[in-house]
Amino acid sequence: MHIICSDLEGVFIPEIWINVAERTGIADLRLTTRDISDYDVLMKRRLSILDANGLKLKDITDVIATMDPMPGAREFLDWLRARTQVVIVSDTFVEFARPLMEKLGWPTLLCHGLTIDTRGAIADYNLRQADGKRKVVQAFKTLNYQVLAMGDSYNDVNMLKEADMGVLFRPPQNVIDEYPQFPVATTYAELKKIFGKAIGKGI
Ligand SMILES: [Mg+2]
Repeated sequence: MHIICSDLEGVFIPEIWINVAERTGIADLRLTTRDISDYDVLMKRRLSILDANGLKLKDITDVIATMDPMPGAREFLDWLRARTQVVIVSDTFVEFARPLMEKLGWPTLLCHGLTIDTRGAIADYNLRQADGKRKVVQAFKTLNYQVLAMGDSYNDVNMLKEADMGVLFRPPQNVIDEYPQFPVATTYAELKKIFGKAIGKGI
């Protein structure tokens, strides 16, 4: 039995924080784990920027609601889900992802959460667990699943390494160079070929 664990941002939807930065005009929100490698430091910085600009959860979700999945993403995800089980494993937050998960047909999402205060501001964030992407793969293996994984960047590498098969989708060049063991796909058609073959149910 197969199960596919897939990253969300960069695979099915654009990067949320970059879109929020562009649409709010707050350039500092463009910072990613490539600028600040410590995720805790990065998130605390983002939350302090939101606070300093008086932005509450609804301001962010209003921006996110205007975003769309990447072209072809919904069709590809539906194709996969008609053939095997798919779980989205992300470093985003449930509260942010909702509008986009609706546009993707409500696939199962395992990610982190936010603490919202009585004013509707984001008071804190709560990691579901440390190294969560790898742990999800380990957990499905204990349930006797053969785990296939895909992601686009550094935060997916542990998940891809732990899986029985890992695929990079449109990764930055430095990730390709550092992890040559993973096949690289740049279109959903290529992913269909790779995963269709792996699960024995092609196009
Ligand atoms: Mg990603």
